[in-house]
Order: sequence, then structure tokens, then C-alpha cells
Amino acid sequence: MDIKKKILIVEDEKMIAEILSINVTKAGFEAVCKYDGKSGLEEALSFSYDLILLDLMLPILDGFEFCKRLRYEKDTPIIILTAREEENDKILGLELGADDYLTKPFSIPELISRIKANIRRYSNEIVQEKVSNEIIKIGRLTINNSKYEVLKDGMKLELTKKQYELLVFLVKNKNKVFSREELMEQVWGYDGFYGDMRTVDVTVTRLRKQIEDNAAIPEYIQTKRGMGYVFVAP
Ligand code: CA
Repeated sequence: MDIKKKILIVEDEKMIAEILSINVTKAGFEAVCKYDGKSGLEEALSFSYDLILLDLMLPILDGFEFCKRLRYEKDTPIIILTAREEENDKILGLELGADDYLTKPFSIPELISRIKANIRRYSNEIVQEKVSNEIIKIGRLTINNSKYEVLKDGMKLELTKKQYELLVFLVKNKNKVFSREELMEQVWGYDGFYGDMRTVDVTVTRLRKQIEDNAAIPEYIQTKRGMGYVFVAP
């Protein structure tokens, strides 16, 4: 039995709060609304939430201050809801610790997709922390999770964060074929509808150039035509 994920909605426009609440409830979440920054923050600090939807322009305590103060104590994922077009608001919000943002008006499917992606990413991070000291040796590769480092024949490879995460995901699920959609969801945290599948192909291609002897004839990350990618343990 699934325990419902809890979402805190902090939004002073009651109509919008209501619409958000109805829709996240419909999508299977439990929702609580607060209508100003101060009571929202008190709620977020006193109870355990899986995600916070946060309006920026709020009475008593604004969304920026909310992010800053919450982050002293908790790392609950925050999605900022902003009516403003100004890039600066989003950037400041992200700098103060928000995880993602949506500009009003946004579609409900997009909102739900982002909520799921952020919750998933957050729970994956917790799992990764638990195994962070692990060293994986596979073929001529050594993955050091505590240093985010990959060595081939003892030589350090220069991988981007996504290349690293993709490799670790495939290695941990070796010999299992994943479609591009599944990889998009598992590694990037977005579901197929909003992701660009070429991102997966490009990342695989670049990763192969680092880990394979001959990227054209890969021995580790193989393509299964019409199915997807698989990491084959030598
Ligand atoms: Ca507002």
C-alpha cells in the first residue's frame, strides 16, 4: 500500500491555491494550503512534507525569505510559482535553495509532471547518499561514489554530472535493457512527455567516447535496436 506524498501549497491567492489543491489531490497527493509566508514556513518546519509549491509574492514573509529560512533546517524540494516573467526572480529563487520553478500560467499536466520529477529526484538523492561510499569495479572501470570519480585502467575520466549519473545507473542495473524514456525518467527525473529523447542519445554517445576503447563498437554500453541501452558486464 502506497503512503500518499504530502504537498504544502503556499499561495495567497485563494482561488489559485484551491485549483492547485484540487488538482494535486486528484493526482493522488495529499495537499495542505497556507496563505502567507509566515504560516507556510511554520507549517513546513513543524511537519514533514515531500514537496512545497511556493508563490513568490506573499504577504508577511515573501517566497525568497521562505526559501532562505527553510534551507537552514530542511531540504524539502521547493517548486517556485511565479507570475513574473523576470528571469531574476527565478534565478534568485534557485540561488536561495528552490529546486525548480513554473511560470504562471502553467498547465496542470506540466505541474504534476514537475512535482513527480522533483519528488523522485529527491528520493533518489537520499538513496545515493546511503551508498555514497561504495566503490564499484567493473571490467576496466572503477567507480568511486564518494568522489564522483570514474577511472579507466586507473586513469581518471572527465565526465559531466549527467554522464556520471547515467553510467552509475546503468552499472547498478547491469544487463538490463532500458528504453530512452525510462532513462530520461530515472536519470533526468523527467517523464517522456516533457523530455527530449535526443538528450539521452547524446549523453550515451559522449559517455562511450570516454569509457569505450572504440565508441563505434561499444563493449560496455550497447544499443539494443528498437529497445534501448544496456550496460553489459564483461
Ligand atoms: Ca501572490
